[in-house]
Amino acid sequence: MSDRLWMSVLGQIELSVSKGNYMTWFKNTRLLKQEGNLFVIGVSSVFIKQTLEKRYAQVICDVLIGNGMSNPVLEFKTSALLAPKKAKEFEDDILSNPVQKSRPTPQNNSNAVSHAYRQGLNEKYTFDNFIVGSGSELAYAACQAVANNPGTKYNPLFLYGGVGIGKTHLIQAIGNALVDKGKGTRIVYATIEQFVQEFLDAIRYKKVGSFAEHYRGADVLIVDDIQFIAGKEKTQEEFFHTFNALHQSNKQIIISSDRKPSDIPTLSDRLKSRFSMGMSIDMQAPDFETRCAILQTKSAVNNVRLPKEVMEYLAQLITSNVRELEGLLNQLLAHCELKNVEPTLDIVSVVFGNQPRLKHVSSKQIIERTARFFQISVDDILSPKRDREIVQPRQIAMYLLRTELNMSFPKIARELGRKDHTTAMHSVEKLEKDIANDAMVQEYVKSIRERLYV
Ligand code: ADP
Ligand code: MG
Repeated sequence: MSDRLWMSVLGQIELSVSKGNYMTWFKNTRLLKQEGNLFVIGVSSVFIKQTLEKRYAQVICDVLIGNGMSNPVLEFKTSALLAPKKAKEFEDDILSNPVQKSRPTPQNNSNAVSHAYRQGLNEKYTFDNFIVGSGSELAYAACQAVANNPGTKYNPLFLYGGVGIGKTHLIQAIGNALVDKGKGTRIVYATIEQFVQEFLDAIRYKKVGSFAEHYRGADVLIVDDIQFIAGKEKTQEEFFHTFNALHQSNKQIIISSDRKPSDIPTLSDRLKSRFSMGMSIDMQAPDFETRCAILQTKSAVNNVRLPKEVMEYLAQLITSNVRELEGLLNQLLAHCELKNVEPTLDIVSVVFGNQPRLKHVSSKQIIERTARFFQISVDDILSPKRDREIVQPRQIAMYLLRTELNMSFPKIARELGRKDHTTAMHSVEKLEKDIANDAMVQEYVKSIRERLYV
């Protein structure tokens, strides 16, 4: 069987698996040898070899049989020659272009022009370097569909799910894919926090006109972390008008959130219904296999081969947040490079002890994060004010100081500028009850806690 035939086998496989899976598992495979019904397939890593053996052998056999081979037997061989050649280049590119920079050498004019439209996008987020797993397959497919035909279907596209599972990555990948097509599509990416800030500035400096123009002039508007629009009535109204203006002229809107529209507190009904007009997708955290694939790929980018047991150990340790997973891997790789050692399990226990250190948070960070979550000021939390909008965040901050930092009640009281430690005690007790009885409070605490460690 010739190379050309293998390419056609790959072509057929490409149609039956998702693009991400194809890129991850099949793209760099070669047919090394064929003898009778034995096919020796070269792959770039042990991990790919194992995954192909376990998950895809049948798919490959089916396609071979469809091409007239009988009883095919597969053998996978790792070959260093097949390692993605651009790994190092790719890394250099990321390191030298951390955010919002154009490619160092634009190849042609359209690329140079398109850079002007890469507003707020980070080039490191692409479809190609996203590892698709069962929890993200649908989101990945929908994002690709939108990138191929913006404004035609799935409008708005609303992605929601927990922290660190790749929402920002995917919605930015849509923007980057469109910019790379070089058709001059005007992409505007903003976090909702940015939108709020710019809106408030626009009011303050009497520039609401140009603010509105900026957002309504987008061909594709990408808004990240929309849940933070909670409690911001004026911004909700402005966003509602922006949304309508764009939607009516068939411009694409893409939104991410850590929860579904109906669970965003104080979100106006009309926005809820707008957000549900197109396609909403519940993204799930990556499963174990996908977490392994992510670790494997990210270490390959760093030209490191991660032993299977190390990979599995790390993948078991961090079960939902890919950012934390990357964080651990980076800590490990940095240590190995510094000490010039291989990343073995022994080294893992040296680096992390028995329990890997989660990022340490300070009481200041807890108070700030809580205030930011509820969009009130730290001063409000520390003030004697008794308004409902402030009392509950204050109680939550106290509760988190207790649960996250094991602080004593007198210390908690002092952190919050209170004299009496019984206030702290009652607040924590009250919150424990609220958590037990009120799903919303439970959600608040969970969301803030997750944000503390990213
Ligand atoms: P979210 O917006 O859901 O909180 P991010 O998109 O910021 O999460 O993802 C956190 C980090 O993890 C980013 O660096 C992102 O590139 C990476 N990441 C998340 N999921 C994947 C994945 N499936 N494949 C590759 N990288 C991923
Ligand atoms: Mg995000």
